[in-house]
Amino acid sequence: MAERVIPLVDQRLVALRAAVPERAVPATGLLADTLGRPLRDLRISVTDRCNFRCSYCMPKEVFDKDYKYLPHASLLSFEEITRLARQFLAHGVRKIRLTGGEPLLRKNLEVLVDQLAQLRTVEGTPPELTLTTNGSLLARKAKALKDAGLQRVTVSLDGLDDAVFRRMNDVDFPVAEVLEGIAAAREAGLGPVKVNMVVKRGTNEHEILTMARHFRGSGIVLRFIEYMDVGATNGWRMDEVMPSSEVRARIAAEFPLVQLDPTVPGETAERWGYADGEGEVGFISSVTQAFCGDCNRARLSTEGKLYLCLFAHNGYDLRALLRGGAGDEEIASAIGHIWQGRSDRYSELRGTMAADTGPGGRRVEMSYIGG
Ligand code: SAM
Ligand code: SF4
Ligand code: SF4
Repeated sequence: MAERVIPLVDQRLVALRAAVPERAVPATGLLADTLGRPLRDLRISVTDRCNFRCSYCMPKEVFDKDYKYLPHASLLSFEEITRLARQFLAHGVRKIRLTGGEPLLRKNLEVLVDQLAQLRTVEGTPPELTLTTNGSLLARKAKALKDAGLQRVTVSLDGLDDAVFRRMNDVDFPVAEVLEGIAAAREAGLGPVKVNMVVKRGTNEHEILTMARHFRGSGIVLRFIEYMDVGATNGWRMDEVMPSSEVRARIAAEFPLVQLDPTVPGETAERWGYADGEGEVGFISSVTQAFCGDCNRARLSTEGKLYLCLFAHNGYDLRALLRGGAGDEEIASAIGHIWQGRSDRYSELRGTMAADTGPGGRRVEMSYIGG
């Protein structure tokens, strides 16, 4: 793994502390970063492994049999994840999303869900608990996850045509099994289910309308994601990005759409409703319409590094604190200082920065940091 780590005792943090003494937070408390953004959303990657090889995320040529995944001892244990999550909640997090890699590959994930479901936000309510999955194992696991306290799932699905889908996941996985997973999730009560479709021009754009027709009126919210330049291995090219405006125009030509208000501040997807009331679709446009201004998301990598942006090069090593015997107050305080120093807004600066390298080295992969 070619990522770099910021140890929490390094000079950067020392300098950060020195630079903001009057803004330093107590061990717990609500936070704002240097751009005034609160901390509300925590994404936790529970594994860097996946059974799919989507070319935009884990291309086969790189993630082959020789690829070095993290050894099990490097992964945060469920207890470690829960302990960290508690401190994030104390700083204002309300929503926790489990992701990966493919999160359902992590053994006994429902045990972690159960532990996280016991936690409380600063308002005293349970956190919103969700999971993003490729759906391949969902039919088997939906009920146990729901029973453990998971509230919702988002399933990634890039097309309904079996040949197109098998090509995109690049492991010949059939679309029917993902559809079974979605059905099982709904039956288990993990709704409203959202479906994420990454649109890659020249690869699956002809699936846009098929997907819209299929999910319209079903109660499932279909969201179109612009193909992003995340990580350093997917060979991203701007000409393969299909702007959300174009996707929306194609749908609106068949089904008129009206724009809807966001449900919460900092929401990643722009919401549009079918004018005839047959549900809604979402557009996640991080390439053509940056939404950094409201970004309230922190990411905890599989081995316990805190990343402040999907496009970051470096993470802050919270695992070292945990395993070095730090108390809860010290951990909460470190998280607070890190968030207060945050100024990330990659999507707004895209184009003015080096593509996949920078002062901190290569950007981390999405499968490692969590999508
Ligand atoms: N394996 C799970 C899945 O696919 O849902 C969870 C992890 S995956 C990294 C999370 C989300 O990131 C998925 O919806 C996936 O489609 C999206 N994603 C991955 N690479 C992407 C890229 N280059 N551009 C846009 N979205 C991407
Ligand atoms: Fe796996 Fe999800 Fe990445 Fe596809 S997008 S390779 S399913 S982690
Ligand atoms: Fe947030 Fe970084 Fe994405 Fe901007 S580029 S929205 S800061 S994760």
